[in-house]
Amino acid sequence: MTQFESFEKWLFPPRCVLSGKATQDWDLADDYLRKLSRPADADKKGCFVCAEPLAVDGVCGRCLQSPPAFEQTQAGFYYTSVMQDLIQAFKYQQQLHLGRLLAQLWQPHLAMQGVDAVIPVPLHADRLLERGFNQALELARQLVSGDEHPQLLPFAVRRIKATAAQALLDAQQRQQNVRGVFAVDAAAKKTLAACRQVAILDDVMTTGATLNQVALTLKAQFPHLKIQAWALARARSHASDL
Ligand SMILES: [Zn+2]
Repeated sequence: MTQFESFEKWLFPPRCVLSGKATQDWDLADDYLRKLSRPADADKKGCFVCAEPLAVDGVCGRCLQSPPAFEQTQAGFYYTSVMQDLIQAFKYQQQLHLGRLLAQLWQPHLAMQGVDAVIPVPLHADRLLERGFNQALELARQLVSGDEHPQLLPFAVRRIKATAAQALLDAQQRQQNVRGVFAVDAAAKKTLAACRQVAILDDVMTTGATLNQVALTLKAQFPHLKIQAWALARARSHASDL
């Protein structure tokens, strides 16, 4: 802890964002911290490609049958109740400070080596206007700071069409809903051409249709790119026991 951080802690003692109670280190009470469930926990395996929970380590049937355009997924947590409460408060109650907590919880579990750039999934301008911020970009800003590697490419991919909310659709509809929705921004082309591996970042991943569509958009112009999907929380896409 730096001197500034201890001063900050003295000035603003940590408090749980969900219960309001005083805490030791995190802005989340221990009870809630214990309830967070992670794909890498010893008893929980996941698909190496899409992080779908599996009974054994390996690649899931869906990824074997139609592999997504990204090679690997790093999911911070499963989208279980505490994570759901945190993300919904962050997004829908505009509690922007939660972005910092969520990034702090996620960062120790993210392997960034070999990733040249991080690209947040963009929001359409209408949704951005409504919400006031892009949650994926806010998380990316907290995770990737300053001149350190990887670099943040906040607007490398643009959303050129508004879409219905993915949450209301089934797996097949989700794929159709995001087709042709993204485009690579001309200003980012030179940087992307020089990258070997990039990560596309989103807050919640369910079927992976949105992340896959961004990856397809990138691969269409930069087939040499290796792509990872980074999701703060992985929701189960079909019946599987978390
Ligand atoms: Zn999979």
